[in-house]
Amino acid sequence: MTARRTIGGIEITHAERVIFPQDGFTKGDLAAYYHAIAPLMLPFAAGRPVSLLRCPDGVAGACFFQKHGDGFGPHVDTVPIVEKDGDTGDYLAIRDADGLLACVQMGTVEFHGWGARADAVEAPDRLVFDLDPDEGLDFAAVTRAAREVRERLSALGLASFAMLTGGKGIHVIAPLTPGHDWADHAAFAKHIAGSMAQGEPDRFVATMSKAKRKGRIFIDWLRNQRGNSAILPYSARARAGAPVAAPVAWDELETTGHAQLYGIADAPHLIERAQSRVLRGWGAARQSLPTG
Ligand code: ATP
Ligand code: MN
Repeated sequence: MTARRTIGGIEITHAERVIFPQDGFTKGDLAAYYHAIAPLMLPFAAGRPVSLLRCPDGVAGACFFQKHGDGFGPHVDTVPIVEKDGDTGDYLAIRDADGLLACVQMGTVEFHGWGARADAVEAPDRLVFDLDPDEGLDFAAVTRAAREVRERLSALGLASFAMLTGGKGIHVIAPLTPGHDWADHAAFAKHIAGSMAQGEPDRFVATMSKAKRKGRIFIDWLRNQRGNSAILPYSARARAGAPVAAPVAWDELETTGHAQLYGIADAPHLIERAQSRVLRGWGAARQSLPTG
């Protein structure tokens, strides 16, 4: 007999199936996490094109990214988007908790999002700097790099926010009022990353080349190109320990030793944090891309 559980408005089949074998967390546990965290996650995730990382056989099995499709049922929207080659693809977007759960029902573990809303895909509204340390670098080096990105942005009048990815690094996120195009969006991000790499070539690189990364931090600005995505705040990660991408305050980074502080068992704690003074206003700012 297989356990079916209705969570929110979605029937989760095989709820007892273990998705995180190292930890014993099941599909039902993952669905319960997303149901609990939806009110915190949806402001960042709803209404924008998403890529899903699906792991139907659990995170130790084969996982694959999916950005197009239908068959997810009435709670997952499709958004026609013209791609680089000129063809139109039907991208996925969710609008509510049941949309998250409908994706979990289909084996989704991670939710990645575009830096633009589905109803305005040519008008980016979120900058993301993805700091990827070379193996062997300690986390303090990543937090220093994140602070420096923050200072560069601040000098140009932009507030930014830190997120532990649940993997190895930190994302520095700056929300923007739409009003500029992808070319300017990417050029701005490239300029920030490029000037940091130029100023301190021993510490930073701004190109994808693995060879150049030795002992350095890759400031991945390419998340800010049209069509690319970044892990969304509060998404679970398909890794041992079932960590989640978690917002943190800048002050907290001083004492944060790694990027996997929170996991899917921590929903109550994450909710409490989000309501606390430490995280109030995280991810929100009214600001536009600097011109010139
Ligand atoms: P970490 O801190 O471990 O680096 P991360 O989420 O930043 O975690 P990366 O490997 O640096 O992971 O990837 C950066 C982002 O690029 C991801 O969050 C994801 O959205 C996107 N990405 C990476 N690979 C793919 C892929 N094959 N398809 C779609 N998006 C991808
Ligand atoms: Mn990264």
